[in-house]
Amino acid sequence: MTELHDRALGAYLGLAIGDALGATVEFMLPREIAHHHGVHRDIVGGGWLKLTCGQVTDDTTMSLALGHALLEGGGPALARQADGDEALVRSIGDAYVRWFKSKPVDCGNTCRRGIMRLMHEGTLQGPFNPGDGGNGALMRNLPSVLATLGDDAAFQRLSLAQARLTHHHPLSDAATLGLGQLLGLLLNGADHSTCQRWVAQWVTDNPAFSFTPYRGRASAYVVDTVQTVLHFFKRHEDFETALVATVNQGEDADTTGALVGMLAGARCGAANLPQRWLNRLQPEVVRSITEQTSGLLTLAQNLKEFDHDPPCLL
Ligand code: MN
Ligand code: MN
Repeated sequence: MTELHDRALGAYLGLAIGDALGATVEFMLPREIAHHHGVHRDIVGGGWLKLTCGQVTDDTTMSLALGHALLEGGGPALARQADGDEALVRSIGDAYVRWFKSKPVDCGNTCRRGIMRLMHEGTLQGPFNPGDGGNGALMRNLPSVLATLGDDAAFQRLSLAQARLTHHHPLSDAATLGLGQLLGLLLNGADHSTCQRWVAQWVTDNPAFSFTPYRGRASAYVVDTVQTVLHFFKRHEDFETALVATVNQGEDADTTGALVGMLAGARCGAANLPQRWLNRLQPEVVRSITEQTSGLLTLAQNLKEFDHDPPCLL
């Protein structure tokens, strides 16, 4: 396995680990977690969704739906999407509708509203909505990053298109692009100080997400989510320490956990993920993630090679 492949797999598996770990304490406050769990550090299921041990939620399963649509469309569809063709975006929308109809264990309000609009109106985005500032578009964007790695214009176009299927809000857009770019840096092996500098500059450019001093809010509002994710990702270099600290902050713990797991997993690589957590994930989820990671990286490779060639050669 190449270093890039190991980092990409680490990010995707890290996302699922963070989701499964955090879901147990989703919507709890830190003091309630401390009262019921002491320090929550094991994947045990339960929580308000009454999950089985190791079960993941919408954060992982919507990512898999996006990844599936990208792989089905293949390289030509991705290249056309980068040129403004909307067929791939429509097929991603179809994948979200199929996901919704499969009765997922949970679905956020903004995602539900957007998917209902897709089903009933067929439009690929709704109008700007001040209520769309949730983290649902951000939480599922990892496959876009993998599929377009090395092509920033394609990354931006695809990320915004998949995000706007359900969320139309400048803070959701900014967060989706920002964490995606940070993930891209990590996948390319950027060192600690490069990432720290990048985050500092990004927060200067996007001051709504400033996280020092950390306010301690970890709700599904995308500002709270990003502040929590960057705070704990920056504070702890070790995957396990970062993830335990994040989910014990509670509130939208499966999503903050998923996103810290994604970034910290890219940083350490799949080979360094804690085995006791990996062993708890559902085998079919691990299999899908492993297959998608290879496929999506191949898409990115093809996109780079075919970039600037006339579409007829695809
Ligand atoms: Mn969830
Ligand atoms: Mn959540």
